[in-house]
Amino acid sequence: MLETIKNIKNHLPFYYFEQISKIPRASGNERGMVEYIKNIAIENGLEYYTDKGDNILVRKKGSVGRENEDTIMLQAHTDMVAEKNNNTVHDFASDPIMLIQDGNILRANGTTLGADDGFGVAIMLAVLTDKSLSTPPIECLFTASEEIGLVGAGKFDYSKINAKRMINLDSAEENTVIIGCCGGVRTEMTIPVDCISESTNGVKITIGGLCGGHSGEDIDKGRKNANVVMGSILGEINKKISLCISSISGGDKDNAIPRECTAIFATESKEKSRECISLIEEVVADIKRDLVDEDKSFLVVLEEVSCSYHYSKESTEKILKVLSLPNAVLEYRKVKPILPQTSRNLAKIRSYPDGKITIGFSSRSYLEEKLDWSCAELDKIAREIGASTYHHERYPGWQGEGDSALVVDWQSAYERATGRRTEPTLIHAGLECGLITSKVNGLEAISVGANVHDLHTPQETMEIDSFDRIYDTVVELLKK
Ligand SMILES: [Zn+2]
Repeated sequence: MLETIKNIKNHLPFYYFEQISKIPRASGNERGMVEYIKNIAIENGLEYYTDKGDNILVRKKGSVGRENEDTIMLQAHTDMVAEKNNNTVHDFASDPIMLIQDGNILRANGTTLGADDGFGVAIMLAVLTDKSLSTPPIECLFTASEEIGLVGAGKFDYSKINAKRMINLDSAEENTVIIGCCGGVRTEMTIPVDCISESTNGVKITIGGLCGGHSGEDIDKGRKNANVVMGSILGEINKKISLCISSISGGDKDNAIPRECTAIFATESKEKSRECISLIEEVVADIKRDLVDEDKSFLVVLEEVSCSYHYSKESTEKILKVLSLPNAVLEYRKVKPILPQTSRNLAKIRSYPDGKITIGFSSRSYLEEKLDWSCAELDKIAREIGASTYHHERYPGWQGEGDSALVVDWQSAYERATGRRTEPTLIHAGLECGLITSKVNGLEAISVGANVHDLHTPQETMEIDSFDRIYDTVVELLKK
């Protein structure tokens, strides 16, 4: 029986959504989910396979007369992002997620809801256990630790998969069918610098108030990157008054557009510091004219300070050269839909007094060769300035066809089930589809989902009727 959720069409998927909300499942803690799904498989006489990565595959035979049809795979991840409000008392290791229904909106009580990706898990459990459905043979792959780098999907043994078609249920927009996602790679560049101990005057620049955002999905929104803004301010001043950087620090997460950056540079005298400050004010006024609405709280604080050390002129030039590299969208797709093809985010910069600067980049593209190209460009600049690069955490992209048979089948099932239209699109972020399609030869895939808002935050909500419609569409597609 349903406990919280009322006024819905499909009871079974909502029932499972309620049940899994009681199971702690922050990334890295999916064992309870594996046990729960395993028990459902056993109770329903379904074949299952688990592995050391806490993934679980459950198979359902085709309905009578449909046993020999091609297998369809449904796929979702069992983990959720564990975020809560500061004033919320909640232990993600033991407490259930409390569901609150507000009309058509489902949310949690000061925590993430886990609709990402609980809605997908719930739909798959309903399809597996509803004996009244007519379906072809089905493989449901539940993966672990997606949110911390597709960890489970990376460990699974794909020789277990028979399907040649996959529906990934991890998208957050009902009216689109995702046919491609980005691959990505992180690069850490280390620049050796000469540090000079010397007491001088200096200027401290603090940049803040920028909106930031996801380094993939928000990369084409014109939002400023605090590190790049710092680079352009320092670069402009350096054209007029030669400067030596003393310290620089900006950005925090590899997958976020940095919102803040602080830098100090040394000057010859108090007079020079003041001259620099008025020059910076002019540059900042120019930048302010060019801001998107989300960045309107942009703020630059300038202070006169004293420095006890600074980097050499030559080292400063090296840093400025890297900070001026092309950033954000590097190129757009040439075919529809016209979206960013390849992007790069100058995510993080840190300076150390022991003679090095590290700069972290994340590159994304649908195409492997473009990821190679972004890495090669960083390698080239590193060679020119005597720096080193380390490329890591690479994962593949995926680019399907907008008119593939699976896309067309989904579109017509959605139209039959809901009377609505849905359009193919691509997402400039990573999905498990990229990894899985790279491991299963000839696997055709789409990613779909219900309307879920404010993912990965305590404000996460799901539209209940949208969840109903996606379930109806999955059932309709499986009918034949
Ligand atoms: Zn997800």
